Amino acid sequence: MRFVYLDNNATTPLHEDVIASMNEALALYGNASSMHAFGRDAAFKIEEARSAVADVIGAPSGSIVFTSGASEANNTVFNIFRERIDLGSKRNRIITTEIEHPSIIETVAYLRGRGYRIDLCPVDNTGRVRLDVLERLLAEDVALVSVMFGNNEIGTIQPIKEIVEMAHKVGAYVHSDATQAIGKIEVSMKELGLDYLSLSAHKFYGPKGVGALAVAKGAPFTPYIHGGHQESGRRAGTYNTVAIIGMGVAAGIAKRDRKDEEQRLWKMREMLRKGIIERIPNVVINGNQEHCLPGTLDVSFPHAEGESILLYLDLEGIQVSTGSACASGSLEPSYVLLSSGVDIELAHGSIRFSFGRYNTEDDVAYVLEKLPPIIKRLREMSAL
Ligand code: PMP
Repeated sequence: MRFVYLDNNATTPLHEDVIASMNEALALYGNASSMHAFGRDAAFKIEEARSAVADVIGAPSGSIVFTSGASEANNTVFNIFRERIDLGSKRNRIITTEIEHPSIIETVAYLRGRGYRIDLCPVDNTGRVRLDVLERLLAEDVALVSVMFGNNEIGTIQPIKEIVEMAHKVGAYVHSDATQAIGKIEVSMKELGLDYLSLSAHKFYGPKGVGALAVAKGAPFTPYIHGGHQESGRRAGTYNTVAIIGMGVAAGIAKRDRKDEEQRLWKMREMLRKGIIERIPNVVINGNQEHCLPGTLDVSFPHAEGESILLYLDLEGIQVSTGSACASGSLEPSYVLLSSGVDIELAHGSIRFSFGRYNTEDDVAYVLEKLPPIIKRLREMSAL
């Protein structure tokens, strides 16, 4: 059976060079914190990986704190500011957006339940942050502004540079969850002036369970996990040497191939978008069509259920997602779509196609052959 994997925003396969580097790294069993030769070998490789990860986001190596992924990196940032607020800082408000990943949205719900003051800035009907509202929310009591780089569901890219400038004017620190942007669009922490940035290896052909938080010089830091001197006391726990080495190799490839990939992904996405519009009546393309992650296409098919479309496509070997994979298992429509003004019926009928480096234009042709009859059949059933 032919398989067409179009769920690269959920996770990506390992790149063959990443697999090779990890296979080799399995032999490096020394604890990277040990002072002897085996420990030093592992530590050396970890530092190589740190430079590669720093390079892909335009940050100095010393800013990188390895974590178990972007969820931990995001939680670490919120924990830093929660602690400052607990210690009596006059800056006791946090601003984030309505369309962040659940690792932020649910952290916010948890903190709000405990009395912390957190504002969720709304987005417009393309998923872009409402800068006019952000401007009104910003004041001298804001400690942190956290806005994702590119949205995992609809792909909308945020005006991070403007947001950083606006937030810095009132003295707030700025964090961006750039998990979906790495290897797809240019990300330079230095150029943007970001204070914190989260990323995760498994979204750019690296292993799962490893990621990083980059912390700019001078930005406050408090460890989220205590108990060891690793990462200069910033994150305790024996190094996951194999995964970190894999992440480093993946970061090198992401940097090397980014420009070509950006173009290739955009081309396939546009072929699919145009093909769907030509072949299927009454569809709605979600998100911002100008400021959009190159490989992400989110489409609503009125009068067809997203879950049914997903299952029928799966029978044809095509793998996609409805809303985000993190939310699947729940029949609630996607909060990202609802926040960006998509009505509830359309949100129920939405599918996210996300391309990656192993997709080809043949894959697009295959989807364009299989999808129209599926939508037609589901719409006929729904009319009954
Ligand atoms: N942020 C975004 C935007 C994501 O897409 C994801 C992964 N779905 C995460 C954070 C969480 O990353 P991780 O799986 O490494 O915890």
